[in-house]
Order: sequence, then structure tokens, then C-alpha cells
Amino acid sequence: MDDPTPDGDSSPAVRRIRQLLLHIRHPSAPSPSSVAGEGQLAALPCGSRENKVAAVSVAELAQYMRGRHREIQERVFEFFRSRPDLQTPVEISTADHRELCMRQLTALVRDAGIRPFRYVLEDPSLYFAISEAAGGIDISLGIKMGVQYSLWGGSVINLGTKKHRDKYFDGIDNLDYPGCFAMTELHHGSNVQGLQTTATFDPVTDEFVINTPNDGAIKWWIGNAAVHGKFATVFAKLILPLQGMGGGSADMGVHAFIIPIRDLETHSVLPGIEINDCGHKIGLNGVDNGALRFHSVRIPRDNLLNRFGDVSRDGKYTSSLPSINKRFAATLGELVGGRVGLAYSSVGVLKIAVTIAVRYSLLRQQFGPPKKPEVSILDYQSQQHKLMPMLASTYAFHFATLYLVDKYSEMKKSHEDEAVSDVHTLSAGLKAYITSYTAKSLSTCREACGGHGYAAVNRFGTLRNDHDIFQTFEGDNTVLLQQVAIDLLKQYKEKFQGGTLTATWSYLRESMASYLSQPNPLTARWEREDHLRDPKFQLDAFRYRTSRLLQTVAVRLQKHSTRLGGFGAWNRCLNHLLTLAESHIESIILAKFINSVQSCPDKNTRHVLKLVCDLYALDRIWHYNGTYRNDDYVAPNKAKAIHKLTEYLSFQVRGVARELVDAFDLPDYVTRAPIGMSSEAYAHYTQYAGF
Ligand SMILES: Cc1cc2nc3c(=O)[nH]c(=O)nc-3n(C[C@H](O)[C@H](O)[C@H](O)COP(=O)(O)OP(=O)(O)OC[C@H]3O[C@@H](n4cnc5c(N)ncnc54)[C@H](O)[C@@H]3O)c2cc1C
Repeated sequence: MDDPTPDGDSSPAVRRIRQLLLHIRHPSAPSPSSVAGEGQLAALPCGSRENKVAAVSVAELAQYMRGRHREIQERVFEFFRSRPDLQTPVEISTADHRELCMRQLTALVRDAGIRPFRYVLEDPSLYFAISEAAGGIDISLGIKMGVQYSLWGGSVINLGTKKHRDKYFDGIDNLDYPGCFAMTELHHGSNVQGLQTTATFDPVTDEFVINTPNDGAIKWWIGNAAVHGKFATVFAKLILPLQGMGGGSADMGVHAFIIPIRDLETHSVLPGIEINDCGHKIGLNGVDNGALRFHSVRIPRDNLLNRFGDVSRDGKYTSSLPSINKRFAATLGELVGGRVGLAYSSVGVLKIAVTIAVRYSLLRQQFGPPKKPEVSILDYQSQQHKLMPMLASTYAFHFATLYLVDKYSEMKKSHEDEAVSDVHTLSAGLKAYITSYTAKSLSTCREACGGHGYAAVNRFGTLRNDHDIFQTFEGDNTVLLQQVAIDLLKQYKEKFQGGTLTATWSYLRESMASYLSQPNPLTARWEREDHLRDPKFQLDAFRYRTSRLLQTVAVRLQKHSTRLGGFGAWNRCLNHLLTLAESHIESIILAKFINSVQSCPDKNTRHVLKLVCDLYALDRIWHYNGTYRNDDYVAPNKAKAIHKLTEYLSFQVRGVARELVDAFDLPDYVTRAPIGMSSEAYAHYTQYAGF
């Protein structure tokens, strides 16, 4: 579009635009180059303040962010840079994409010698770092890797015992045994306990007979099943004949079984198994999802993954866990690694999208003061509003997922009940919160890049489509957030029964005692910048909101349950419960961000991280302004001050936006979008179009 303000044009619309521009321009706008040391266009001022941010060293910040994972991620990036034959083209058919994705994974393992499966066991944080880097190459590759190592491989080593590890580890590791994780059925996804596939023990032959009793029990959406898988971990109800009441059969609940699905030599589908293709999807087409039906397929008794429950030769069931529910919880508890990986990889996707959108917004110039050069679109307050809190959130999520990975790694070593429970809830909450945020942000980034954001080569289309399902698989986000809410209510109940709170939620102990007392009418009016930027004020505000939501929903649930019963009352309060879960997760994210700022050894880096953290915190507080105002936690003058400061912080972060995205340390080879190149973006773009 042309500049609408050519000199001499005095149509009413143009005059109005001129007036508006005068409102947002300020003659003494400082150049961001004086701030960040780069030759950029002058930033538009925000109010009358100047954009003073200390110089930041990209190298220091990148080092602090990626730490010890940098080396392995660089190995992944370098390998794919050296192999153009493995790059996913912008346009590719489903069949070709599936084959390419399998070649990418095989080459990574066999040619580059990166063996992710070992890290699943020995050093999960390295595994997640590889998986994030692989997702940067192609999200399908990251997911295909997750299916092989975290789901299929993870189920064998976490739900099985030594005999399974001995037999399958090498084949999974070197990809001789590509496999699937077959839990979901046509009629049951989130409700895993409702699965209908059966595994009936036959004491005569010492085998299990796996059967799909009806169409609703067909295993659906199973990754690696349509083309490449040779084995599947299949979740089925374990049925023991003659062990039930009155000599009938007993249903022991959902268990996992290893089932060979294709011949190791010929790759033909094995007898009794029917496999069909789930077909072309709206994204992730490098992964071959298929549907599986079993017609009384026989497998040896040894193929039961028997860590939490076993069947003896004479058909007797043994388990160290007393009930079906406890065994089910233990089984699912071992599978949280997939969720941790998705949260982590989702941040990786967000980093790529934000990098492209910010770089392009710095480069792109539209409109400007009369007779002056056009300004960069990132100098518009509206563009800052779209992208700067998102950039701040990306940093916040980065540190939160590092924390999650650490907790997960500790839990894998200790296996303590409390750690297992904490990681279960934390991974559910962070996966749900982050993937939902990233999914929305991908659309915002596309829109922030205007028409050029719509070109497939600029990545937002594939990123958005490939990432979208992160919200659903490994647990639907709405269902996962309810697990967080359940845990919080459990803690709340225990607190009032005199119990102790587990480590992760310990802030609630304090908050329920202090934050829920009447808001302090004095502090509700404090509006000075040093107070608003005080981490104590910010954390208190987040925690107050969580505590208030927890207390009020507990009261509502009790009130409604008398008339509606437990299920009805839960449903009556469902939106309230989801808000509570999100609020709690935000409290955790902020707490971890504040810790990471405080632990940063380099002064300038710490200073810039503090700025980003303040923006994250105040943007959220402003977002929930209605709640804070309703409770008089924040007086009108303070609300106004928060809003003003949030806009100012966005403006300041804009001054170091280039450095902040550079510190994600993503080579151009990985971001790939011509408009997001670190230099000569337009030249790359025109070249792509054939000029
Ligand atoms: C590309 C892809 C790959 C997959 N790969 C695998 C795989 O390899 N192995 C495997 O086993 N599965 C796989 N899945 C299946 C995936 O795990 C399920 O789709 C997921 O668990 C959700 O189940 P569902 O689709 O049946 O949704 P449903 O559970 O039917 O949910 C549908 C909607 O109902 C809502 N809903 C459901 N229950 C509740 C509730 N209690 N409260 C409020 N709202 C509710 C949800 O929020 C959602 O919006 C894959 C799916 C896809 C699309």
C-alpha cells in the first residue's frame, strides 16, 4: 500500500491519519542504535520517556540460555546443514514427506551418530534438547523421533522389565525396530480407561490373545503405523479367564503389550492384523499415522510389559500395587516424558516464529513522518504490543521448561512418590499452557508479517499446522488443565486438614494464609515504578489471584455438589477450574523466570533479563486487571500505572529485540524463512522467487 500522507493531499481521511501520526510521533525519539549498538531506524517514543537499555551481549545471553545443550543442538544443526538432500522442501507430497522424515531420522542416528534413545535413559535433558533441535529442522522429524524413542521406546523401558530392555533396546536405538505407541481408539482418546481392546490370557498356550471387539476399539491415529512400524506397544484390557467372581473372567484394567505388526525381513503386515492409513492430515504429514485392528492375534506371555503387574504361567495376577486405579496411575505416570518433550519443543517452535516475526518487523518499513524515511513497523506501538510480550513469554517459557526438565530428570532418578506427583502435574500444566500459547502466537506472528507472512516459504503455515496438534496429543489441553486443578484442590483440602503441601506448591501455604486476607488498601494504591517492578509485588499479585481462584472454586464445588453430585458440580465450575489451573501455572512460570534472572552471573545480561521478566509479569497482571480491580487488589490509579508501564516496557524491549532473538541462537539454516534471515532478507526472498 502507498503512503497515505502525500504532501498536499487534504482529504478528510488523510487529514485524520496525519493527526493520528502526530499523536504518536515525538520529535526527540532516541535511535535504538544508541541503545543496542545497531544501525537501526529511530524508534517512535512511548510517552515522553527515552529508550535506555544497557548494551547486551548476544553471546553472553545465548550462553546463559542454552548452557550445556548448545553443543548437541549445534551437532544436529550442522549435520543437517551438511546434508541438503535431507532438507524438507516447501512443497512435498504426503508419501514423499513420510519417506524423507524416515530418512532424516535414520541419517541422524546412523550417519551423524546421534543416538537419542541412550539419553532417554541416561540424560533426559539432552534427549529433549536433541528433540527440540530436530523439530527445528522439521516438526515432523521431532515428532517421529518422539514416537520412536519417547513413546515406543519409552514404553518398553519404563513399563517393561529387564527382559524387555535386553531384547529390544538395541533394535529401538539403531532403528532396526521402528515402533508405535497404540493407545488411542476410535471411540476413546482422552478417556484411556474406557479402552475396549482386549488381551485375554490363554493358559493352554501361555499366550495373550489380542482382539479388537468392535469398530470403536480400532486403534486410531497411531504414529509410525501406516508405513514404517514393525512393532507396537498396544494398550488393552487384561482379561484373565477363571479369575473373576464365581469363576468367570476378571478384567484387570488397562495394560501394555508388545505386538509385532510387520515382518522384520519382508515388512509385510503380520497375519491377524489389519492396518489402514489415517490419510493426509492438516499438518505433520511427515509422520505416518495409521489405524490398527487385531483379529485374535496371539503373542507370548512375555510380551506383557510387566513392571506394574504380571501374569504367572498358571494365569494368576500379581502386582505390588493394590488396585486397578493405582496401576493405571503408575502406568500413565511413566509416560509423562512425552509431555515434557512437547512443552519443550513447543517453546522451540515459538522461538523460531518470534525470531522470524521480530527480524522482519525490524526490517520492514511502512509510513513515516512527512519527508522523513519510513519507519520500521516494530516502532509502531501496536506491533510492539503484539510481539514484545510474546518475546518476553518465550523467555519465560524457556526457563520454565528447563526447570521442568530438571525436575523430570531428578524424578527419574529418585522415583519418589512426591516427585512423581509434582512432575505429573507440572508437565500437564506447562504442556497445556505453553502449547496453547504457542498455537495462538503463530497466527499473531503470521499476521504481524502482513502478506509476506502468508508465503509458505516464510514458514508460518507449516509451523502453525504442524504445531496445532500439540494442543491435543499427549493429553488434550483442557483435560490436562483439569488434572492440575484436581491436584490443587487436593492440596487445598490437605492444607485444611493439617497436612503438608508438596514442594512445588508450597507457595500456596503462605498465600492461603496471607494473600487471602483483605487486600491492603495502602499497597493497592502504590504506583511507583520501583514497586511495580519489584518481583515481590509481581509474584504476590500472581499468587493472590491463584489463591483466590482456588478458595472460591472450592466453595462453589461444595455448594453445587449437594444438588448436582460430584460430576455435575465439577462441570458447573469447569471454566473456573481451568482458569485456576492456568493461573497456577503462570505463578510457577513467573517464579522460575525471577529465579533465572537472579541467578544470571553477568550484570548486563541480568539487567536485560530483568526488563524482559518485568514485561512478562506486568503484561499478565494487566491482562487480568478486571479481577484485580473487582477485588480492590489494585486501585484505579495503580491499574493505570501498570498499563502505562507495560507499554513502556514493550517499547524498551523493542530496543533490544534483535539481540533477544539472536540469543535464541537459531542459525538461518534453521529459521529458513527468507524474511527472517539475519541479514539480506529481501535479497533472499527475491532470489527465492527467481529474481
Ligand atoms: C496427528 C496425531 C497423532 C497422534 N498420535 C498418536 C499415537 O501415536 N498414539 C496414540 O495412542 N494416540 C495418538 N494420537 C491420538 C491423541 O492422543 C488423541 O487425539 C488425544 O488423546 C485426544 O483424544 P481424542 O482425539 O479422542 O479427543 P477427545 O477426548 O474426544 O476430545 C475432544 C474434545 O472434547 C473435549 N473433552 C474431552 N473430555 C473432556 C472433559 N473431561 N472435559 C472437558 N472437555 C473434554 C476436549 O477438550 C476436546 O476438545 C494422535 C492424534 C493425532 C491427531
